[in-house]
Amino acid sequence: MSASPLAPGAPRSGTTFLGLPTAPPGVGHLRGDRPFPDAARTALRDGQLRANLGRATTTIRGKRAAVVSEVPHWEQLRQAGKALKAATMARLDEHLEELERQVTARGGTVHWARDAAEANRIVTELVRATGSSEVVKVKSMATQEIGLNEALEAAGIEAVETDLAELIVQLGQDSPSHILVPAIHKNRSEIREIFSRTLPHLQGPGASPGLTDDPRQLAMAARAHLRERFLRARVAVSGANFAVAETGTLSVVESEGNGRMCLTLPQTLITVMGIEKVVPRWADLGVFLQLLPRSSTGERMNPYTSTWAGVTPGDGPQEFHLVLLDNGRTAVLADEVGREALHCIRCSACLNVCPVYERTGGHAYGSVYPGPIGAVLSPQLTGVEDNASLPYASSLCGACYDVCPVAIDIPSILVHLRAEHVEAQEKPTAEAVAFRGLARVMSSPRLWHLAQRAAGLGRLLARGRPTLPAALPPPASAWTRTRDLPTPPGRTFVQQWNEEHRS
Ligand code: SF4
Repeated sequence: MSASPLAPGAPRSGTTFLGLPTAPPGVGHLRGDRPFPDAARTALRDGQLRANLGRATTTIRGKRAAVVSEVPHWEQLRQAGKALKAATMARLDEHLEELERQVTARGGTVHWARDAAEANRIVTELVRATGSSEVVKVKSMATQEIGLNEALEAAGIEAVETDLAELIVQLGQDSPSHILVPAIHKNRSEIREIFSRTLPHLQGPGASPGLTDDPRQLAMAARAHLRERFLRARVAVSGANFAVAETGTLSVVESEGNGRMCLTLPQTLITVMGIEKVVPRWADLGVFLQLLPRSSTGERMNPYTSTWAGVTPGDGPQEFHLVLLDNGRTAVLADEVGREALHCIRCSACLNVCPVYERTGGHAYGSVYPGPIGAVLSPQLTGVEDNASLPYASSLCGACYDVCPVAIDIPSILVHLRAEHVEAQEKPTAEAVAFRGLARVMSSPRLWHLAQRAAGLGRLLARGRPTLPAALPPPASAWTRTRDLPTPPGRTFVQQWNEEHRS
């Protein structure tokens, strides 16, 4: 262990201190520069973006539904995943320490990073020590979360993304908008334009002309660029889908083979992993490796599942470093309701079914974690006040819960975080005042009957239509601008009851 995970004075669980602070501001990508409603409004005006998202999410949803329906015991598998995650979180400190022992015993080095800044510093120093000025990267949410590419660039180290979609985003100087398909907002002709403009072998006098929108041509252009980078790289940086405590095994699942190249060719491998990715036993992988590919890419198996433990003399990287990242996770763990968000295996199924995500895309969330899981994870990692609009970025329809392979109750966490946000307000919000008034009215039969009679006046505004007009006067307009308010019935329930039971 090269740095202590322990915070003096913090609450303890077993032998490891828990309750570290939330992710610090100014580093990494967990906070947007605009609240969700503002950013969403901009996204909704982009017709091309909506068309791209609609097409892509519809396709992935269909593939997932088909392969999930093939598994007769899917619900039991899902509950097994949920139970395994809950049991792991209950003894997370012990599993992490076991993981550290096993990785170290197999020749790896474990580093503990309290937050994004510390993780970036550790990785930068490790790369510097190799003398290399570039690294190849396997797609990793944790390194995006901490802003590792920017930190390496500031130190004069170039980070090359090797996942095709990540490469598109990087070359286009864009940011990812989906956990699994970071360039979901780009169509083929936009990708062709980015490649033609940026890939070195497509530039200059000797370049092969006429790159088209053909997927094979686009893939081959990226392949030619990446092959050269793989072969010359001395250092690779990866994330991890899982880490097995009992064996010290790390695992990365991917579809393109770029991960396998990064994990085997360079001399030095540095893996940055959120502490929640640990599982206790090798056998636990059997559950998650069934749940993940069907939920994410809609495949029965991942094309590439790489596992490694420490270093093997003469085979693969000869130096292996594992950076265990907190960055607000132990703070999430301390919340009895919210901690379920740490069960996430980043399959992205909840994004693909979310009616809000499908219309706004990922950028509107301002965090590397978009969609329903982002709406519950980002505010907890940063503290709710730094991402206060995200728990409201949901219709609470529950589709995210229905598809989640580890049955995370996202709607309940959203409601919990909304309550936390409201309770944190020093001055009562207009909503709080309105609900206080409503509580008063609903607890007095006389006021309630008067209110019902007054509501009947709404029929005049409706002029025979089934819903009230969108432009009710403020403050009611804030509600009706985006929702239908049914026209009050001619008779209230009590009136009907009295009339029918009078005889
Ligand atoms: S919350 Fe569930 S559905 Fe969403 S990405 Fe995580 S594991 Fe997948």
